[in-house]
Amino acid sequence: MKKIAVIGTGYVGLVTGVALAEVGHTVTCIDIDEEKVKQLQAGHSPIYEAGLEDMLSKNISNKRLFNTTSYEEGCRNADAIYVAVGTPENADGTADLRFVEAVVRELAEVLQEETVLVTKSTVPVGTNDWMQSLMASLTDVPVHAVSNPEFLKEGTALKDAFNGDRIVIGSDHGPAGELVEEINRPFGIPVYHTDIRSAEMIKYAANAFLATKISYINEIANLCELLGANVEDVADGMGMDPRIGRSFLNAGIGYGGSCFPKDTKALVNMADQAGHNFGILDEVVLVNRKQRLKLFEKAKHRLGSLKGKNIAVLGLSFKPNTDDMREAASLAIIEELILAGATVTAFDPIAMPNAKDILPEAIYYADSSNEALQHADAAFLLTEWDEITSLPLTDIKQLMASPILFDGRNCYDPDEAERIGIEYYSIGRQDIS
Ligand code: NAD
Repeated sequence: MKKIAVIGTGYVGLVTGVALAEVGHTVTCIDIDEEKVKQLQAGHSPIYEAGLEDMLSKNISNKRLFNTTSYEEGCRNADAIYVAVGTPENADGTADLRFVEAVVRELAEVLQEETVLVTKSTVPVGTNDWMQSLMASLTDVPVHAVSNPEFLKEGTALKDAFNGDRIVIGSDHGPAGELVEEINRPFGIPVYHTDIRSAEMIKYAANAFLATKISYINEIANLCELLGANVEDVADGMGMDPRIGRSFLNAGIGYGGSCFPKDTKALVNMADQAGHNFGILDEVVLVNRKQRLKLFEKAKHRLGSLKGKNIAVLGLSFKPNTDDMREAASLAIIEELILAGATVTAFDPIAMPNAKDILPEAIYYADSSNEALQHADAAFLLTEWDEITSLPLTDIKQLMASPILFDGRNCYDPDEAERIGIEYYSIGRQDIS
């Protein structure tokens, strides 16, 4: 078993660190956020991810997982140093590598012996080479960069860490790539070896492809509405072809989260910088931007003025089972509702504390879906948490002042809504007005 340092304890770093400790490695997680580190040292997870806190505290007790703000302490005698800091979006859509650069500079100060730098962060093609040459300009200690992109999905991150489809290892230095394979062997997940640049590209190409699938089905949904077809049936019929597959063919209010929006734009920019026009991906981004407001436009069309209307918003996180609000469609929709003068009461089972940090103060929060729905003039269903989609339509009808439901995730059957007497607007299906 190896001694590993993990830099950055966000969704990726923390899950990676905990999973590596769980399979027997000795792991030290390093973060510059002192509050976060204190919380982690006490065995508390700063993020919501099923099963994470239990596994975190168990491995802290077993003395296989440590947390610190000190690079020196965390990297001492480490066989490998994982980099899992954020790579957010710059204003021009390129990836912001500020945190990655800070990590390299910090490491150059403390590294004493030859080591392997394993990049989990999603970074543009060429970044690992750049990190390696920056490191070489700052220290004589040999450092071998390995690209090891992360494919976990928020909401099922821990499960994915132990049951992923593949582990991609991009290395231009044989022993470094082998070390990363050895570290990962206990997971029993198929390993795919390639060169560094191809590994970096695999991550962007995979995310952009999934985003394309979503924008594609959303455009089909928009057309279904105009031509009287049902996008759910269309997706089922398409998905039966194994070359297509049913996953990522759920029409709705578009993709969000901390990865797809920024990674698609970063890839468009990477292409631009290389002198290539990636037009198809430009369109994917544009379609997604428009799709977010699709439901709001339906509401405006149906309700006329939204001024003074009580609107319930069910679900805030960008997808279910996570507290992550980054680039959630709810943010764009709530902003429009507030601008239009509506009074918004929102409920989310987990993401409300994070939402409160980002959203305008002018919205109210309820303790349950039922409370949010009470006396509402219309409701928006924006995240398909089980707790929300299990609400019977009969209850929804009873609670609301006027039962008008705008469903951004196609959670209910329009025929049932019609039977029960709810006005029901969804995506790519017949509206029940
Ligand atoms: P995050 O924002 O949740 O966490 C980043 C962490 O790094 C924070 O805790 C921050 O305090 C810490 N940090 C910043 N600068 C630091 C420094 N100099 N030294 C030590 N710690 C520092 O980010 P995330 O969502 O975990 O994403 C990390 C990377 O993984 C990104 O490149 C992202 O694109 C990629 N990724 C994310 C996901 C996902 O679902 N979130 C999935 C696959 C890949």
